[in-house]
Amino acid sequence: MNKNISIRLFCEVTLTVGDKINLEPEQSHYLKNVMRCKINEKILVFDNCTGEYTAEIMHVHKRSIDIEVLEKTKSRYVPGDVWLIFCPLKKTRTDFLIEKSTEIGLRKFLPTFSNNTQTKIVSLNRSRRNIVEAVEQCGGTFIPEILPISSLADVIEELPEERILIFCDESLESRNISECLLLERPAKVAILVGPEGGFSDSERKLLIAKKNVLPVSLGNRILRAETAAVVALTMWHSMVGDWLKKEDHRNHES
Ligand code: SAM
Repeated sequence: MNKNISIRLFCEVTLTVGDKINLEPEQSHYLKNVMRCKINEKILVFDNCTGEYTAEIMHVHKRSIDIEVLEKTKSRYVPGDVWLIFCPLKKTRTDFLIEKSTEIGLRKFLPTFSNNTQTKIVSLNRSRRNIVEAVEQCGGTFIPEILPISSLADVIEELPEERILIFCDESLESRNISECLLLERPAKVAILVGPEGGFSDSERKLLIAKKNVLPVSLGNRILRAETAAVVALTMWHSMVGDWLKKEDHRNHES
């Protein structure tokens, strides 16, 4: 990361060196009124396709700011091929789950509702804002997508055959996740975490019966769903995913 530039903004447009961009009102307000940026100040900008660039503030208008894209600092880095299937939690806990999972790294969020899910509502706009802010903060250059909510049965049905479903099973009867990942080393996964009320027996039976499902235990205590998501993602990245890659992916050519 460009250590001496602290402000990073996501631009929906595809960026090229030399581009002159009139920033969105919200981003202009943030730079002008919150961060008190001045003309000639440098910021970092990134899109979700080519990578990150330095940019210079060229004009500060009443309600908008013009920047010029100066130099590419790193290419887009796509995280390891992991999805997260999660049940919506109470608002701030869903926010936490979305933010921390994005920081750790994943490609897709699949909200789902199961028998014990207490809420079937996920605000996609709010979640997408949380995702973008987390990527801006953590130096990422890839924006994971979040899908509209669907039933657990549909999500499992539509999961591509080659993708292993890592079923976080709080019954504590499954093998420990580290042992499973060491043995199976699944490179393309979807991690499934249940709701506050856990999975029902019928859901557990349905899941365990499927051939591409890997039931795992996350230790011998019951974690909150958002904690389970963080733990499972961390274990996968550290044993199979990004953290095993040798090259310095901060300058990864994708
Ligand atoms: N029924 C309990 C409850 O109401 O607290 C457990 C639900 S737990 C809070 C939510 C989800 O986190 C579970 O469905 C499971 O996916 C995951 N989880 C929590 N602790 C776990 C563990 N020790 N091993 C595997 N998964 C776990």
